[in-house]
Amino acid sequence: MKIILANPRGFCAGVNMAIDVVDQVLKLQGPPVYVFHEIVHNRHVVDDFRSRGVVFVDTIDQVPTGGVIVYSAHGVSPQVRRESKERQLHEVDATCPLVTKVHMEVLRFAKEGYHIVFIGHRNHDEAVGTMGEAPDVITVVETDAEVADLPFTPDAKLAYVTQTTLSVSDAERIITALKARYPNIKAPPKDDICYATTNRQRAVSELAEDADLVLVIGSKNSSNSQRLVETARDKGKAAYLIDDEKELNPDWFTNRFTVFVTAGASAPEHLVQNLVNRLQRDFSASVSTVGSESSVEVRTLVEEDVAFAAPASLKKLTVLR
Ligand code: SF4
Repeated sequence: MKIILANPRGFCAGVNMAIDVVDQVLKLQGPPVYVFHEIVHNRHVVDDFRSRGVVFVDTIDQVPTGGVIVYSAHGVSPQVRRESKERQLHEVDATCPLVTKVHMEVLRFAKEGYHIVFIGHRNHDEAVGTMGEAPDVITVVETDAEVADLPFTPDAKLAYVTQTTLSVSDAERIITALKARYPNIKAPPKDDICYATTNRQRAVSELAEDADLVLVIGSKNSSNSQRLVETARDKGKAAYLIDDEKELNPDWFTNRFTVFVTAGASAPEHLVQNLVNRLQRDFSASVSTVGSESSVEVRTLVEEDVAFAAPASLKKLTVLR
């Protein structure tokens, strides 16, 4: 069996920044450190932080008055910020700047009098935070079929934004349906689906052609990881989302000889390496001389060089401590 390894894969700039923020807060003040929702949607990352004294909370009243609260990469609604203020918490904001960009678009469209269609998954943390910016003038749409049920007249003043981690092709279908029904609907100035989501999906679409099995390292609640599996299946590939190599099922390999391996934006690289090692040890994966990483063929779509600086709120905490 041959392994093809996708590049890019795994951690994006937003996840790197968010994880680094929690590490820094742990170093600065020691445990317990309170984080609102999972810092990123990955079981291994979350379990590791839990073991080091991080407490993930779903409501602000779980944090002791006057304590420190870290907001996850997915962002929070203004209501959460208000509750933190009432409780006199020190906020450290690890929201990905590309999520914040969508929050800003919502605020601007709302101020200009638009009703906003949010294309995304209604219960996802990012969607809840973004829609909380203008809850009275925002409507969520998850599928192109739902566009037909929107209650607005064709001449309504509408704009749309999207969640950052959607399937590029699903989002295109929904946007096409919206434009067909509302020709004057206003688009965001720049695509909201982020570079990392787009690159990882394109890598699966364009680099996995000769693979007969696609394995995606990522957690079940990771939106962008799920979209990678869907992208592969749309291309007619057998594809599975696994948290780690322990979830491999030998039946998947029957009469399949080339496996394409990638990872969602919140999945740590060591899990990819564990998977590759296991494939070589137990599934006779072959050694190839192509690519820069030994024993696998690495296929590169694009080299990413995006990095986000630590948030100002972390620097403020550093000064306070
Ligand atoms: Fe930011 Fe995109 Fe990474 Fe989400 S997937 S944290 S939006 S870079």
